[in-house]
Amino acid sequence: MPTFLSGGTGTPKLLRGLDSVFDPTETTIVANTGDDVELGGLLVCPDLDTVLYERAGELDRGTWWGRDGDTASTHDELRRLSDRLDVGSEPRYLDDTAQVEGREIARWRRFSAIGEFMHIGDLDRAVHVLRTSLIDDGERLTTVTIRLADAFDVTVDVLPMSDDPVASIIHTPAGLQHFQAFWVANRGKPAVDAVDFRGGEEASATPEVLDAIRNRPVIIGPSNPVTSIGPMLELDGFEDALAETTVVAVSPFIEDQVFSGPAAKLMAAVGYSPSTAGVAAAYPFADAFVLDEADSTDLDRPVIRTDTSISTGEDAERVLQASKRALEGV
Ligand code: GDP
Repeated sequence: MPTFLSGGTGTPKLLRGLDSVFDPTETTIVANTGDDVELGGLLVCPDLDTVLYERAGELDRGTWWGRDGDTASTHDELRRLSDRLDVGSEPRYLDDTAQVEGREIARWRRFSAIGEFMHIGDLDRAVHVLRTSLIDDGERLTTVTIRLADAFDVTVDVLPMSDDPVASIIHTPAGLQHFQAFWVANRGKPAVDAVDFRGGEEASATPEVLDAIRNRPVIIGPSNPVTSIGPMLELDGFEDALAETTVVAVSPFIEDQVFSGPAAKLMAAVGYSPSTAGVAAAYPFADAFVLDEADSTDLDRPVIRTDTSISTGEDAERVLQASKRALEGV
């Protein structure tokens, strides 16, 4: 049974079809934590939570983040009060000293709650409050996530890629921005000179993650290779583990047309062609690819083609079946 590598959109979309293609009780999902932030003292893990909520049947599928039907009274009040206090609504990335003080997992991703630049729902916030408190109690993000998954009656194993801090930092002509400031507050508009994963060199994949990769075939759902899979590849031992196992990747492009998000811009910035060919170059450890039937990219590895556009459960099943065939063919 497979292990999936997940960001916050492409793989969660695929997971919708999981139950009819694989046994969820035998499936592991490893989620990126490079996008995580600490916001007003709360650790927010967008990709992990999207996977948790998707599996719990609670995901807001309109946005692909947050809980379906959630309210946002606290968020709205934070915005209103910040406005009344005249303290602004821009992301407030804390200063260098504050970034390395306090709980270690929040290093280099610490924002104040002034103006709360990310939309945090009320029920969603309860998860962040509890997660942060459990971490302050001495638990690893991994065990906290396993306990949260149990609390949501989730049957797959959900794992964060690491228990260490890794912060995806975007270099723009105007200076450095955490990925969430770049993407959420600035809507991905600034030019990108480079991307780095602060903390990545010192961070490790957890034993649970390495075990799930080494002993299972891996499916990389359609993901942003730079900011969703890139942080994982920074972790000690992660890429070696992928090289030793069977890996199938679903392209987030049709040739050079990206389905959504900033993948094309970020890939160009780090020196990859923003296309299916660039995804293949970024994944030298992948043994086979699932491409859209309209994608005629010639790759040096086996390819299965299908309609890779995913908006319904049937679409997700179709792309998962293609991924399964690709795994079986390797
Ligand atoms: P993030 O964490 O929100 O940045 O999202 P991911 O890295 O999980 O996924 C983003 C990628 O999913 C983007 O590069 C999109 O091109 C891709 N994507 C979104 N919807 C689809 C879809 O329906 N089909 C395919 N093949 N890719 C998709």
